[in-house]
Amino acid sequence: MTDSFDTQPAFFDVELARVITACRNHDHHLTDSESRTLAAAYAQQGTPLANWGTGIDVAHTARLFTDTRRLLDAASILADDTRTALCALAEYLRDRARGVPTRADYEHELIQIYAREIAFLRARGHMPYIARTGLGGSCTGLAASLNDKHELYATNGDACLVGSETEERPGPWSVGIYEIDTGHATTDAVHPCLATAYSDAVAALPRPRARTPLHLLRRIATALRLYRKGPHQVKTTLHLPAHFADRLDQIVGLDAQGCVVIDDRSVGLVALTACCHAYGKGSAHSTSGVSCRACHNDVDIKHAGGDVEVAIGRDNIDIVIES
Ligand SMILES: [Zn+2]
Repeated sequence: MTDSFDTQPAFFDVELARVITACRNHDHHLTDSESRTLAAAYAQQGTPLANWGTGIDVAHTARLFTDTRRLLDAASILADDTRTALCALAEYLRDRARGVPTRADYEHELIQIYAREIAFLRARGHMPYIARTGLGGSCTGLAASLNDKHELYATNGDACLVGSETEERPGPWSVGIYEIDTGHATTDAVHPCLATAYSDAVAALPRPRARTPLHLLRRIATALRLYRKGPHQVKTTLHLPAHFADRLDQIVGLDAQGCVVIDDRSVGLVALTACCHAYGKGSAHSTSGVSCRACHNDVDIKHAGGDVEVAIGRDNIDIVIES
């Protein structure tokens, strides 16, 4: 991947001038990085060339080659130097296009192009992947299971994610939610931005009434008591189940609501659920959008990760492991 040129305009201009000068020599063979610099300078939005310029390994390099030729056809007003450089880019891409891309190449490309949308869904506790549907797997979409009953499917083209494999330009995001068992569409929503289409579709899902079991109410009462005591009082006693014994070194303290905060080395600080001392996960059934991984009850959105503040530090807690 090349650096983001947006943040380095001066560097980009100097590099572009250097590449164009180098291309005056017709024997000059473009490097990968030089070809990206040229593509970034001349790519039009919504074409595979634009993706090439941002450093994405566009699978169907033949499309890049065609787009460069089109650019050249339309570029009669460009200075000779620039035309020479674009010819060099076309040559480079033609050489590269000789390897025929596989289906896995296309899927890899989509993962790169839709990295932001994938990160958005991950941040909500889903495990999104590129799914193929339709006749012969001709349609692609971002799929993720929302809960044990529903699956989400999102596209920004005519039933396809728009990559180099199609001639389409990216359109609004269409998010459909389906019952896993029957395949029936439960809700759908369309919006230029995936985040909004996602929220609208999820909000339209019918929700079962949330139950608050007794043990959860008891934990909340304890948490409130801990909170009122404040961090300067006597040590807080924390009762933990036996399976916590080998994770004690991960505990950093309690947050303001008395939820155990651990330092999960991979994710960072995480507030565990009050009910089960478990992680939260995204759930379309939950009024908050998040449910407890262990008991599936609705839990606060903070359990999905993000900003966690420790109210009572580890030093002010006495831990009792329940046997
Ligand atoms: Zn729970």
